[in-house]
Amino acid sequence: MHTSSYDIIIIGGGIMGSSCAYHLIAKDDRLKIGVIELDPSYELASTGRSCSNARIQFSLRQNIEISQYTFQVFKKFAEEMTVDGTIPDVRYRPEGNLFLVDRNGETAALQSLKLQKGLGCATEWWSKDKIQARYPLYNPEQAEGGTFGPDDGHLDPFAFLMGYRKKAISLGVKYIHDEVEQIMTDEGCVAGVKTSSGQILRAKFVINCAGAWAPKIAATAGVSLPVEPVKRQVFVLDTKIKPETDLPLTILPSGLYFRTEGPYILVGKSLPEDPVGFSFSWHEQRFIDLLWPELAAFVPAFDAVKIHRGWAGLYAVNRLDGNAILGEWPELPGLYLTNGFSGHGLQQAPAVGRYISELILQQQVVLDLSIFSPQRILDNRPLSETGLV
Ligand SMILES: Cc1cc2nc3c(=O)[nH]c(=O)nc-3n(C[C@H](O)[C@H](O)[C@H](O)COP(=O)(O)OP(=O)(O)OC[C@H]3O[C@@H](n4cnc5c(N)ncnc54)[C@H](O)[C@@H]3O)c2cc1C
Repeated sequence: MHTSSYDIIIIGGGIMGSSCAYHLIAKDDRLKIGVIELDPSYELASTGRSCSNARIQFSLRQNIEISQYTFQVFKKFAEEMTVDGTIPDVRYRPEGNLFLVDRNGETAALQSLKLQKGLGCATEWWSKDKIQARYPLYNPEQAEGGTFGPDDGHLDPFAFLMGYRKKAISLGVKYIHDEVEQIMTDEGCVAGVKTSSGQILRAKFVINCAGAWAPKIAATAGVSLPVEPVKRQVFVLDTKIKPETDLPLTILPSGLYFRTEGPYILVGKSLPEDPVGFSFSWHEQRFIDLLWPELAAFVPAFDAVKIHRGWAGLYAVNRLDGNAILGEWPELPGLYLTNGFSGHGLQQAPAVGRYISELILQQQVVLDLSIFSPQRILDNRPLSETGLV
């Protein structure tokens, strides 16, 4: 059995693990940091299977502030993550997000809009007429109007991940191709991890960045997280009638969402019956039965479509409140969590990586994210966020 020692071990090298690794090493390049990733191709990681949206449109102040920071990061990402002349390009496209609002959701939407504007965001209220004028294919009959975030948009998630990963490696972080089997403890504190290849990596700090796999690995240290892997399916459609302009990410009050993706339309919806578990199959019938009728009612021109392709990925759903769980687990010193992001983790990675690095290095935090602390899980204190998709 091979044993080695690190200052910090990160379990999972997806967007969260890589952002944490980068922020830690950028603050102190003497740190010995190991990122253990079971699949460096990231085939099943949620990061590469996301819909790549970033948006200001949340209802919780801290979620809005996280996204404000993300937008700042996009502007300097290429410069900051350049390694040996190789410049990452996350290709951020601020096409906007349009949330349709019905009578039931109007009060909450107007409250969120007020909060966003108060924080300096450019979100606008659009009347039904304005929506129809901008997007003549839409039939917003059932809606009261909508909120439009002009800065919201899409990026290349793989470039985002690789930007952090390559920069972290260039600064001295070691990525290890292995699978963490167990988080080890000693006298009530974290002591390191054991891997399936038989390595023991000792460390006083372990960060669980294992995405939808996080509850499984947390359980090896006796930590019970209210997080479940839930399969979400996304469909890419070839529509007979093509919109004249790109469609923004448009979210109906039911949660159905769609947007332009090149010459295609990408569509999805989170449903309560979505299966829990590690399955990655996707099913055309689901689109035909559950999504298509609703899509065609809102965009009658999409009555004639062909399914071009599809995919499934896992949301790490925080069953308590759908929000992130960030910080040290109160009952196990040294174990830090970046878990439970549900459907909005990609865009939260910059602020999360910075925050976790500040906590571990005991620095003043730039953005206080203690509202997401694991203590709320133990206290059963859910947060309220009405902008979950
Ligand atoms: C269909 C879909 C659409 C989404 N759309 C959006 C969106 O538009 N915007 C947004 O912000 N977010 C979106 N998300 C959510 C977002 O993708 C996730 O919140 C985010 O990618 C989580 O990153 P992560 O690093 O925590 O997890 P992952 O990217 O899953 O990375 C976890 C890594 O841990 C590794 N790992 C797991 N267990 C072990 C172990 N025992 N040992 C070693 N390594 C291990 C895995 O191989 C994996 O690479 C979407 C998700 C899905 C599924």
